[in-house]
Amino acid sequence: MKYISTRNASCRVSGSEAILMGISPEGGLFVPETFPQITLDEIKAMGDMSYAERSALVMSRYLDEFSEQELLEIANRAYARFDDEDACPLTKIEEDLYILELWHGPTYAFKDVALTVLPQLISACRAKRGEKDKTLVLVATSGDTGKAALEGFKDVEGTEIMVFYPDEGVAHMQKLQMITTGGDNTYVAGIKGNFDDAQTAVKKIFTDQSVRDALKEGGYVMSSANSINWGRLLPQIAYYFSAYADLLSSNEITVGDKVNFAVPTGNFGDILAGYYAMRMGLPVNKLVCASNINNVLTDFFTTGEYDATREFHKTISPSMDILISSNLERLLFEYTGRDDKALCALMDSLKKTGKYQVDPTDLKRKLPFFEGGFADEDETMETIYNTFDEYGYVVDPHTAVAVAVYNDYYLTSGDTSPAIVLSTANPYKFAQDVYEAVGENYVEDPFKAVKKLHFLTGMDVPEGIRDLETMEPRFTDVLSGEEIKQKVLAKVKG
Ligand SMILES: *Cc1c(COP(=O)(O)O)cnc(C)c1O
Repeated sequence: MKYISTRNASCRVSGSEAILMGISPEGGLFVPETFPQITLDEIKAMGDMSYAERSALVMSRYLDEFSEQELLEIANRAYARFDDEDACPLTKIEEDLYILELWHGPTYAFKDVALTVLPQLISACRAKRGEKDKTLVLVATSGDTGKAALEGFKDVEGTEIMVFYPDEGVAHMQKLQMITTGGDNTYVAGIKGNFDDAQTAVKKIFTDQSVRDALKEGGYVMSSANSINWGRLLPQIAYYFSAYADLLSSNEITVGDKVNFAVPTGNFGDILAGYYAMRMGLPVNKLVCASNINNVLTDFFTTGEYDATREFHKTISPSMDILISSNLERLLFEYTGRDDKALCALMDSLKKTGKYQVDPTDLKRKLPFFEGGFADEDETMETIYNTFDEYGYVVDPHTAVAVAVYNDYYLTSGDTSPAIVLSTANPYKFAQDVYEAVGENYVEDPFKAVKKLHFLTGMDVPEGIRDLETMEPRFTDVLSGEEIKQKVLAKVKG
């Protein structure tokens, strides 16, 4: 299986190259040349497998440089770090409505599903390619990726990791999780600006030849742990199959029944993995793309216009406060019929004018299974309350956005397919807002909010959240875009 760049179809690399490079030299994203198929029989057989086995099966279809045994060892190590025997458990909250909990990993957000795997994939790829250079991993984070990447790469030999988060744009708990990280190969800094500024600054470093040369000289190659990296996206495909297999084994559906997925969306990585699962043969009816009031994607799916030139809103679902959803590029590549020239024209327009337009009728015709919707802050808070009140189930604000959008979709469409809402964070990561929604008031002290939320809901508090209260911050830098580059250069010069 080879991978091609969305912006240059003649750039053709192996899976290990795609993972080590992160992004193609001209700024495109790597996509598999074809979508390997998984049959309904194979999906059914997944019912008897562990999550790690399901994951290894899906990954092996894309990474032919690895044996399935090798991938199973990687997946076993990754998912042994999760706090539930089933790494991605499915919970039924109502007839035909299920929640797929993706937050049982070391940092309590869905990013762990991939970021416990990616560092191991990078190490294995380096070994396969006889790579002597160290890997420098650069991450721009809207909150959850940073900590998950830090935990994934911490003290992994041959790697250094630098994480940049928007200083004013992440939740208190998210920031604390990052700046208290241990490890000898880690670095964390705030940057002035929002997530898009952080992501743009990091992307710029990736395509800056002078940086690449300096790194080469210092014995480093750069890679990315953001969801633009194929090794990030790949492990996410598995949980769509896993959820379906679980529905089959509990007789909630029969083989071949189509299901809907509702996905709280920011950078479009999570939902894109669902689209890839569908292309591989998973019976999917709709992929519901749920946004907060940064609703660029809702407008895109409705009007065909992608317009990032709008006010940026800070919300209670900060990991979705994104105006430029990088992974949409991979979907657009499919939309254009894999036409790299057409894709480049769209991306050029985005770069120069902040927007692009495709024909909405054509979009609906070619990608009929996508629905877009958004929830504002009030609806999100109300949904947290209602979900607890009606089902006794506590959702974090990101997941609540998806529940709210799915409810809207359900009521307006009349679509009664079984639906799976992807739950992306443990509610305690956002204890203040969640407590305000289900409890009485906003509690200024996040750790008090944790205690009150526990008292009210009885839900277990993760150890890693409780411990943060007494940990000392290690990283205090706040940088401008230009200073990021200087930091990166300084790091590789030792
Ligand atoms: C990252 C994240 C999202 C958005 O996922 P994308 O792959 O960026 O679309 C949603 N919820 C939480 C909690 C996240 O950490």
